Amino acid sequence: MPTVIERINLLGLDFAALADLVGQWGDKPFRARQLERWIHRHGVDSFDEMTDLARDLRDQLAHRCFISAPEVLTEQRSTDGTRKWLFDVGRNNAIETVFIPEDDRGTLCISSQAGCTVGCPFCSTGYQGFNRNLTTAEIVGQLWYARRAVEADGGGARTGRGQAALDRPISNVVFMGMGEPLLNYQQVLGALRLMVDDNAYGLSRRRVTVSTSGVVPMIDRLASDCPVALAVSLHAPNDALRDRLVPLNRKYPLAELLAACNRYLQHAPRDFITFEYVMLDGVNDSDELAEGLVEISTRVRCKFNLIPFNPFPQSGLKRSPSGRIRQFAQRLMDAGVVTTVRKTRGDDIAAACGQLAGNVKDRTRIAQRLPDRARVDRDLERV
Ligand code: SAH
Ligand code: SF4
Repeated sequence: MPTVIERINLLGLDFAALADLVGQWGDKPFRARQLERWIHRHGVDSFDEMTDLARDLRDQLAHRCFISAPEVLTEQRSTDGTRKWLFDVGRNNAIETVFIPEDDRGTLCISSQAGCTVGCPFCSTGYQGFNRNLTTAEIVGQLWYARRAVEADGGGARTGRGQAALDRPISNVVFMGMGEPLLNYQQVLGALRLMVDDNAYGLSRRRVTVSTSGVVPMIDRLASDCPVALAVSLHAPNDALRDRLVPLNRKYPLAELLAACNRYLQHAPRDFITFEYVMLDGVNDSDELAEGLVEISTRVRCKFNLIPFNPFPQSGLKRSPSGRIRQFAQRLMDAGVVTTVRKTRGDDIAAACGQLAGNVKDRTRIAQRLPDRARVDRDLERV
């Protein structure tokens, strides 16, 4: 019987892994560097184009390896220039990626899992349940594909300022799409290493942001393995409310999370943690809770990013009125806490935060538990 060779997707290999691969065929590590540049810096997917590699090596690569992002199922464009891609990740699962052009930067919001196990009641990804972790190749593939698409389009719809960022049409990456990145740690780490590697995407560590609902042990691992900017989804200043809004809080309560944030700051490329706070009408938007956040800001160097809740059909929750959001933000700012309110982008194509649902074949029971809105509402009332 002929031997079946399992071909390797090179998009998932960092420099060390590429060096091991070419080393098996007697090639020196600098060949891995060249390969890395072709794949990630130049976005090439055909070995024939890699003209500075010897023909033998190219033949070996073509025989054993391939370079391929997940297949795009659909693309949508918002009137504000935001683009959203739905990628097929097999077995009827699909994930979403969003490109947000701004004057001074281009941000790609990527997914790390097909679904999510955390199950926050205000997040449509949580409602989809969970299927599986994405591989490094699937995570990096979103950036690889989007950069080619954005470049082909002339760099997005931006005009004017920020020439440095314009030279790099995707200047920022945020792990704020589907999934909890720190529950898929190894694969996300592989992707982060490529993102900040000068021979691959060369992004500044300050411009790559991991957003987490608070997986405390992995915050520590990230600090030593690949410190990048960290955003923590806080959503409540006390354990009683946070237990309900971010169920992972029951495992890693606030005191532990805040301590992990302080440890992270000793390694982080920025000297603050960004706390994300989704604004839910009548749930977490009172002045009293704003005071709770002010108290937290005395314990961790931080900035707040208030996210107006983006509704989706099953949630049964409402966005705080804009006057309430302004007043909440003002209370924080009056206390000297740097606070921004996130602009909603791409909501006409359901590309705004928390609206990414992709297509997840749930393998857990989370999705069954979550839609019990009546129960969540009763729980929230008791807080
Ligand atoms: N799992 C990670 C990253 C993905 S979610 C995390 O929770 O941090 C990215 C951000 O979008 C988080 O701050 C999350 O709380 C927020 N978000 C989720 N659903 C939302 C919604 N419906 N409206 C606004 N923001 C939402
Ligand atoms: Fe998962 Fe983040 Fe959505 Fe919570 S907000 S369900 S952690 S993706």
